[in-house]
Amino acid sequence: MMAFLLHCRSLLGDAHVLDTEADIAPFLTDWRGRFTGKAAAVLRPGSVEQVAALVKACARWRVPLVPQGGNTGLVLGSVPDASGTAVVLSLARLNAIRQIDAVNRTMTVDAGCILQQVQEAAAAEGCLFPLSLAAEGSCTIGGNLSTNAGGTAVLRYGNTRELCLGLEVVTPQGEIWSGLRGLRKDNTGYDLRDLFIGAEGTLGVITGAVLKLYPRPKASITALAALPSPADALRLLVLMQDHCGASLTGFELMSRYCLELVARQFPQLPKPFADAHPQYVLLELSSSESEQHAVELLERAIGAALEREVVTDAVVATSEAQSAGLWQLREHIPLAQAKAGKNIKHDISLPVSRIADFIAVTAPQLQAAFPGCQLVCFGHLGDGNLHFNVAPPEGVSNEDFLANQDKVNRVVHDSVVAFGGSISAEHGIGALKRDELAHYKSAVELNMMRAIKAALDPLGIMNPGKIL
Ligand SMILES: Cc1cc2nc3c(=O)[nH]c(=O)nc-3n(C[C@H](O)[C@H](O)[C@H](O)COP(=O)(O)OP(=O)(O)OC[C@H]3O[C@@H](n4cnc5c(N)ncnc54)[C@H](O)[C@@H]3O)c2cc1C
Repeated sequence: MMAFLLHCRSLLGDAHVLDTEADIAPFLTDWRGRFTGKAAAVLRPGSVEQVAALVKACARWRVPLVPQGGNTGLVLGSVPDASGTAVVLSLARLNAIRQIDAVNRTMTVDAGCILQQVQEAAAAEGCLFPLSLAAEGSCTIGGNLSTNAGGTAVLRYGNTRELCLGLEVVTPQGEIWSGLRGLRKDNTGYDLRDLFIGAEGTLGVITGAVLKLYPRPKASITALAALPSPADALRLLVLMQDHCGASLTGFELMSRYCLELVARQFPQLPKPFADAHPQYVLLELSSSESEQHAVELLERAIGAALEREVVTDAVVATSEAQSAGLWQLREHIPLAQAKAGKNIKHDISLPVSRIADFIAVTAPQLQAAFPGCQLVCFGHLGDGNLHFNVAPPEGVSNEDFLANQDKVNRVVHDSVVAFGGSISAEHGIGALKRDELAHYKSAVELNMMRAIKAALDPLGIMNPGKIL
């Protein structure tokens, strides 16, 4: 390890090889504070060539490496294990916007660019980069690609995979693959780009990407609807899609308990309704024509929903500040949960049509197995993605409840599989869900994944212990 670290210092300079306890501590704990690993050092390369040279060194000295972007991942993918043998490779210094091609509607960026920085650079050219999630002020494009992040605009624009045309990757051998093509059509053999997207740093280090840009909508409008049940939320989704087509860009479900939790933890946030309702849907429409067009579309659709008694009440934001206030309610749910204590998170996807039945069956199963547990159910309903989180009953400590994690997972994930769903919709597998993946994936699928891993990373140095 001494010789390896000396070599790293010669490549990066002392300032960018961190190895004191205090310096490396911020890189070792996951965002939710559930696990703190150990690392021999944190390496902070400033160029693609430095990344390549470091990975070559890792291969030569057989040092495992953990790529890290903003460390906002929720499945323990970006932190090292407890052995202390790995190094963290932070991409934070690779943060340049390389090029924007407004006619091709693409931008080429370094992997360490913060998502918000990318959104702002696109906006400065009159374009939209539509990926949006609550961690956008600190997560990076490399992390978004490596987890195939979803977020709040998937309904209209797709996951990060759909927003990426090309990649630059440092392979586990320390070679640079430049696949930075801005092509919408390219059928030249196996799609290597798609292998690295969603690979959570287990197949290589993403150092750059070509991202898709879109025209900026002329106007966006946000509304919050109150509804009796998740089944009504599905009826509203169909109604909105029929009325508004591709103008519907966001459709988020939140239960009453979620908004009560937010109100308790963040009393300064708006309270849109005087009375509580069982369910809420936050929806967003965008128009490429005008604000008036967006308002008319929304009012017509909400009017129809009220008439058919799908919705019991609704508020429409009449200013950008009000719209931001409504989105804050949604975005503060994970923050309110984190403030309230620990909980058992599930990031699941289901066929949209089966979501209401899934909730109706699974919530009572949880209550029967863990009486008094609190279900924090919210998510990107338009994408069939729920965050189906379970918090301890009143009076039960976090630690006591978390001891039940495997049993809680079994109840939820068995039901997910019975309803034709997936145990990870957008957060990935990391170390947290590795055993669950092994439990639910078929041997055929797991063997193909293992074969790909062995072919690309025969030394097993890339983020070991994650996914497989
Ligand atoms: C408040 C909050 C809200 C969130 N909301 C959403 C949401 O709506 N939708 C969603 O999908 N996720 C969400 N997330 C999860 C998280 O923000 C995303 O997974 C994000 O994409 C991670 O980016 P990051 O830069 O922080 O990656 P990190 O956490 O640093 O890393 C994530 C994984 O990617 C790997 N990795 C990172 N960079 C690279 C690279 N350059 N090359 C190869 N591998 C790399 C890491 O090894 C790790 O396995 C949320 C998180 C928080 C804290």
